[in-house]
Amino acid sequence: MTAEIIYGSKIAEEIREKLKADVKELEKKNIHPGLTVVIVGDNPASKSYVKFKQRACEKAGIRSSVIELPEETTQGQLLQHVNQLNEDSSVHGILVQLPLPAQIDEKVIIESIAPEKDVDGFHPYNIGRLQTNQDAFVPCTPLGILEMIKKSNIPIKGKHVVVVGRSNIVGKPVGQLFLNENATVTYCHSATENLVHITRQADILIVAVGKAKMIGKDAVKEGAVVVDVGNNYLSDGSLAGDVDFESVKETASYITPVPKGVGPMTITMLLQNTLKAAKQISS
Ligand code: NDP
Repeated sequence: MTAEIIYGSKIAEEIREKLKADVKELEKKNIHPGLTVVIVGDNPASKSYVKFKQRACEKAGIRSSVIELPEETTQGQLLQHVNQLNEDSSVHGILVQLPLPAQIDEKVIIESIAPEKDVDGFHPYNIGRLQTNQDAFVPCTPLGILEMIKKSNIPIKGKHVVVVGRSNIVGKPVGQLFLNENATVTYCHSATENLVHITRQADILIVAVGKAKMIGKDAVKEGAVVVDVGNNYLSDGSLAGDVDFESVKETASYITPVPKGVGPMTITMLLQNTLKAAKQISS
């Protein structure tokens, strides 16, 4: 069997066209969706992520602005900025780029963002709503993964979804989303025993670990759907996923590539969440 490749890049493009049209409709009602990203310090990876996000906003017609703060910014100063954005009616989405410098407690900052502007979906209010299957801002990568699976017409209900990784931004929420879709969900992590025995039971295997090519053909059931979230830079500068794409594509029925897989969906879901915030705040 050779797997069908799910190009998130292609699905993302279709969704972005639709979002662009939605933005135009909102503009007619004098609603101008706006996202503000706050970045603290000079982390080059964070800076390039922020640029990608800004460019994607521009293309979709969403207003975006970036507040750049120095590395030595205190928690109190950052809180002041977030509070101002919470009060600013022209700002619909607030995103504080992580990681933050050591002197700032990420949890405190995330909890200071108004939940109705929390387009990253990291606020405990939104996490709780997701957990209880209520409408919420859902973290962008998990939401993008669910969209990819749905748009590929892959059945979810009753299927065994195995998630490798339990981070707050990917692993945990993606498992919760699929549970809400009536899948049977198993989480694996660094202390999991017999990992391969468990991953081989997956109908849908979602890998979000951050270890290049750790999932090989032997870890995947024949015909499984494999979603690779990993973003790992190899010594030659190339990008690899957590899944050994070349071997696993011989076993899987569907597989997402890296790059052009989950990554483009993540930013697209940020745009979608910003639009959702603009609609909700303005209604
Ligand atoms: P974290 O480092 O926060 O979490 C990694 C998870 O993997 C942890 O739960 C950890 O377990 C688990 N883990 C580590 N080693 C093993 C192992 N040997 N076997 C099983 N589980 C293991 O990473 P993130 O969730 O933030 O990101 C995961 C990957 O996804 C990274 O490569 C990241 O770059 C990428 N990513 C890609 C995005 C995209 O848009 N494409 C967006 C976000 C992330 P434990 O909890 O026990 O420590």
